[in-house]
Amino acid sequence: MSSKLDTPITYLKGVGPKKAELLQQELGIYTWRDLLYHYPFRYVDKTRFTPIGQLHADSGEVLVRGILRRLETVGSGSKKRLVGRLRDQTGVIELVWFKGLQWIERHLVVGQEYVVFGRINTFKRQLNIPHPEMEPLRPDNAEAMRTMAPVYSSTDKLNQRRLDQRERRRIVEQLLDQLTTADVPEILPPWLTAQFNFPSRLVAFRQIHFPRNEEELAAARRRLKFEELFFMQLRLLQLKHLRKRRLKGFLFERVSTYFMRFYQEKLPFELTEAQKRVVREIRRDLGSGSQMNRLLQGDVGSGKTIVALLSMLLALDNGYQACLMAPTEILATQHYHSISNYLQGIGLEVAFLSGSVKGKQRQEILEGLRQGHIHIVIGTHALIEPQVTFHKLGLAIIDEQHRFGVKQRAALWKKSTPYPPHILVMTATPIPRTLAMTLYGDLDVSIIDELPPGRKPVTTWHRTERQRDAVYDFMRKQIAQGRQVYVVYPLIEESEKLDLLNLEQGYEAIRRSFPPPHYQISVVHGRMNAADKEFEMQRFARGETHIMVATTVIEVGVNVPNATVMLIEHAERFGLSQLHQLRGRVGRGADQSYCILMTGYKLTRESRQRIQVMCQTNDGFKIAEADLRLRGPGNMEGTQQSGILQLRLADLSQDGAMLQKARQIAALIVEKDPHFQLPEHHMLHRHLQEECKEYKGWGLIS
Ligand code: ADP
Ligand code: MG
Repeated sequence: MSSKLDTPITYLKGVGPKKAELLQQELGIYTWRDLLYHYPFRYVDKTRFTPIGQLHADSGEVLVRGILRRLETVGSGSKKRLVGRLRDQTGVIELVWFKGLQWIERHLVVGQEYVVFGRINTFKRQLNIPHPEMEPLRPDNAEAMRTMAPVYSSTDKLNQRRLDQRERRRIVEQLLDQLTTADVPEILPPWLTAQFNFPSRLVAFRQIHFPRNEEELAAARRRLKFEELFFMQLRLLQLKHLRKRRLKGFLFERVSTYFMRFYQEKLPFELTEAQKRVVREIRRDLGSGSQMNRLLQGDVGSGKTIVALLSMLLALDNGYQACLMAPTEILATQHYHSISNYLQGIGLEVAFLSGSVKGKQRQEILEGLRQGHIHIVIGTHALIEPQVTFHKLGLAIIDEQHRFGVKQRAALWKKSTPYPPHILVMTATPIPRTLAMTLYGDLDVSIIDELPPGRKPVTTWHRTERQRDAVYDFMRKQIAQGRQVYVVYPLIEESEKLDLLNLEQGYEAIRRSFPPPHYQISVVHGRMNAADKEFEMQRFARGETHIMVATTVIEVGVNVPNATVMLIEHAERFGLSQLHQLRGRVGRGADQSYCILMTGYKLTRESRQRIQVMCQTNDGFKIAEADLRLRGPGNMEGTQQSGILQLRLADLSQDGAMLQKARQIAALIVEKDPHFQLPEHHMLHRHLQEECKEYKGWGLIS
């Protein structure tokens, strides 16, 4: 099935091989479809002319209209330029060209009225417009008569090689003139276009490139934006649906001794309502006969570990093994300790595996996993190495998922037969709803949206260098009360050396202000080996040191309830989600905790906003929403690799309502007709085949 839109752009009048090559290289435009989808990024309102007499140095981009009065070449050599004068009833402005003089001179007519668009420049206190766009004002000139002119993203190269805005418009217009409804057929079911009162697809393309007014533009954008979101959701929901049907999973029918004994005898606290709900959701999945693929979102400290543990016990009750994979050695070790602790006296074998477990010990663990007498293994990505094989792996839990790539997760899938293990992915980086719907649209999502009782929100302050002494005094007071303190320095990969220097200088400064033997300090950074890190972490965890000076290695998961102060140096260099993660290291015990954000005096607007958000709220979801707003979806963690965010018009930080709607409708359709076989869904299928190729690569693994 081929579409006319797959035609190469060389098959357009006026696009020769040279221009085609440029469009390919500079903008990735190969086919008619690419050109059609290359929407203008803004429009110039051609009805608002500025009287020439009112132009001034700060006018910026201007649209003027006047008669070309004079045109002459002045200067010589590299200073040679073409100067024209444009006059209206209010004044005269100079137009200047430095390149392509001959061609321009030949094409301009003195005495002709022009519409001129360009940016005001000053040269020796004189105003001029360098390299303006010139349109002769004649009744037969559509370009000049346009009220809203599209402006396309461009590059210097394109502009220099006569692929300027005017030429680009001409090419797009050519294309649109040739296309008929047969080439750009309707792809949405008729009831849908009717319900939303959408313009037809072809009309929408026409109007987004050449709108006659704001209303036309808005209608076109609304339709094309909806399409983007709708087809993305259609694909995601179809994947999810098919996976559920096709991917059988181990059936965990029983809830018996391990789970019940732990729940009734060992659980040290009452689960929160949110935890109970999530455990129910997981139980339902595990008992459904399909493979579970669930994302568990819960803010730092919301109690995901216990949910993980209860899920693992369900696997064990049904004769299967379970594993828990964490992104760092420190975090894996902590999980290992807390889970071993919880399970004391239950009679289960729990093992730890990471790169640093070697030799005989490693062999024993591998053997135990293969034979099945190790029930639970907790570790780092060492777990996915091919040598690790299981007797019967029924459940794999991945903590802090954004640190693992798709490939690594896929490796876990292969560790059991005949079905892949059930998968529970846990993340403490709250993801705004819109982003979750797109990034994890094909997963089931559980949310722990409630913190265990008695947590006091962390008090957050913004401080600068001038207040350092006061900050240190505050730390001393807290330490005097028996509390502990984190001091964190940023780590930016490109400048590891600099960061280490930061950390070392910081450590020296801290040591001067908190001298031994009265104060004990731990240091942890990325360059230390795992054993040393672990040693320092444990000293701090046991309360033997008062201050932990660290780079962001402690960001994830570390749990020392007695620590009540988190001092973040150069806080402006951290992203919001990182700041939130770091702050989550305190406020884990009964005492009031504090987060102090140290910055320089001068902050960019965005850093200032980030700091403000941190001082205003402790709610991870609110912070995530702010993050999305400030940075845009393309810069959020996890989105770059996804390929999913190649949205042209939709903006996940703005278009939540439309996304929701698109998802609802997509869900209805997938429910009714998952393979899009009904006649009215025929075009949906075809469109997905033709245009949503990028989705194919996702396969079944998320
Ligand atoms: P996270 O979701 O960040 O992984 P954890 O699982 O580490 O959170 O839990 C944080 C702390 O809260 C732990 O000390 C844990 O024992 C405690 N906790 C978890 N659930 C509850 C609960 N329902 N009631 C009281 N404390 C809880
Ligand atoms: Mg955790």
